[in-house]
Amino acid sequence: MILPEKCNIKLTDANKNNTRFIFITGGVMSAVGKGVATASLGKILQFRGFNISVVKIDPYLNVDPGTLNPVEHGECFITEDVWDFTPVHGSDERSYRISEIDQDFGTYSRFLGIEMHPSHNITSGQIYLSTILSERKGKFLGKTVQLIPHVTNIIKERLMEISRSENLDVLLIECGGTVGDLESSIFLEAFRQIKLEIPNRTALVHVTLVPYSRAVGQQKSKPTQHSVKMLQSMGLQPDIIIGRSKKPLAEDIKSKISLYSNVPEAAVISNPDIDIVYELPILFEEQGLGDFLCELIDLKAKLVSYSEVNNYSEWLKMVEMYKNADKLVRIAMPGKYFNISDSYISINDALEHAAAHQGYKTELKMINITEETKIEEELKDCDGILLTPGFGERAVEGMIKSAEYAMENRVPFLGICFGAQLFFAAFCRKYLGLKDANSSEINPDTPYPVVDLLQSQKDVTEKGGTMRLGAQKIVVKEKTKLYDAYQQKEIYERFRHRYHIQERYIDEKAKEKGLIVSSRDETGKIINSIELDRADHWMVGTQFHPEFKSRPYAPSKVYYDFIKACTTYKNKKKSI
Ligand code: GLN
Repeated sequence: MILPEKCNIKLTDANKNNTRFIFITGGVMSAVGKGVATASLGKILQFRGFNISVVKIDPYLNVDPGTLNPVEHGECFITEDVWDFTPVHGSDERSYRISEIDQDFGTYSRFLGIEMHPSHNITSGQIYLSTILSERKGKFLGKTVQLIPHVTNIIKERLMEISRSENLDVLLIECGGTVGDLESSIFLEAFRQIKLEIPNRTALVHVTLVPYSRAVGQQKSKPTQHSVKMLQSMGLQPDIIIGRSKKPLAEDIKSKISLYSNVPEAAVISNPDIDIVYELPILFEEQGLGDFLCELIDLKAKLVSYSEVNNYSEWLKMVEMYKNADKLVRIAMPGKYFNISDSYISINDALEHAAAHQGYKTELKMINITEETKIEEELKDCDGILLTPGFGERAVEGMIKSAEYAMENRVPFLGICFGAQLFFAAFCRKYLGLKDANSSEINPDTPYPVVDLLQSQKDVTEKGGTMRLGAQKIVVKEKTKLYDAYQQKEIYERFRHRYHIQERYIDEKAKEKGLIVSSRDETGKIINSIELDRADHWMVGTQFHPEFKSRPYAPSKVYYDFIKACTTYKNKKKSI
């Protein structure tokens, strides 16, 4: 983090490696797909051979999103590495473990195929923590600590550190929220300073909503004009405007946006609703955005070495494959839902990847379990059941019933983390006669705590970054469904949990009834996955989250086999 003597650091001095910075802001309203637009911008740069990465700024005051409620805020993405964030660099101040980051990183990694370090998710919480603790350490002695330059310098230094240490051609920086939010204004001010310092190597891309008025049968540019004015009042002039709309932007709307926003027409880009999100880089490319952008930030095309992931024609082929996958496979996801569909976006996408590679399109049936829900009725028309990760009591009994239903009716089943734990509870209730078996997280008084706290969690009192997190080595047992999927004895997948399946309940009877522990951690003490030993039934539960590593061109292996079981089940059902 920033040192006192460096307080007046000029970006130009620090940015010796010539990294270009592309800032992405949002206009009119949030949740218009800024993350997908950012990832697609990155992709068209990758097509040209550039080494890029992405930073996401979340202006809220949480240190990381790990403590946010996923049913309100969306999923928490888990990184491979766990980062020890030291707010005051080089001091003896305590550090905070961070591996839980914004869900947009899922989108970035699926598009870009790169792993991003947790330090790429900058929150106001981190920035202010650094500022205040630095002041207490005497780092700004004699000075009045202010938003400008002290806070902006800390923001700039975070960006510099990334561009410097990763030797990047381009760093894309997406600012969450919408221009005009009080919380994000300090970040926009940092962008303004960087643009001033290195004008030829920065670009500002504004992603805005262009609504359609049914009353007049036209797209309307006024909200965009207002949000651009707001940017301009902060000293920021957009270089490119990406208009999110239902249909492609009409020519006259493009000219209007260009005129009122002071950008050339060629820099007003259409971003209409599309079925396959991976098509967006292609739409950008077709509108000449890649070349325009490179000219703007003075990037000369590189000699591109062939890579399946970053090759334009391979990407085109992949998108075609997704478009042609038209047979339906219906997956039930019983759980608790609020009003957003993003709570398990990596799972939804991993299912989509696995299905598309087998010619199928997923139809996800999110079942919001309440006391009235008739589980069996709801599950009857599905080809597979996925039990989601989660915390807390709501919907648990219904989820356990869903696992029992899968066991009884031999419906393909995949349980992820909490879903695997509840699969085990269902098994214990159904086959071992352990009435009311449960996780002690859900019922601390259960007579059979078949899922209980990890030993390492027993003394943990703080929340935020304190779970078992990040990628861990998993030792896979041969001749299991898990091994069939991975074909490897050792794998690495990502974890986020406090509780785990208790070995002591897996006795002779459990084994007789077909329960198999298919993987463990390196010490052998933590059960990482379970499954049923049945030739005609695919039922697997993983304590880990394979969805975080699924890519559109390389589906997760467990998800692939799950979908395979679902389509086989579906076709068998049809032929009876
Ligand atoms: N609540 C469970 C635990 O902490 C499961 C967590 C999850 O599904 N990510 O172990």
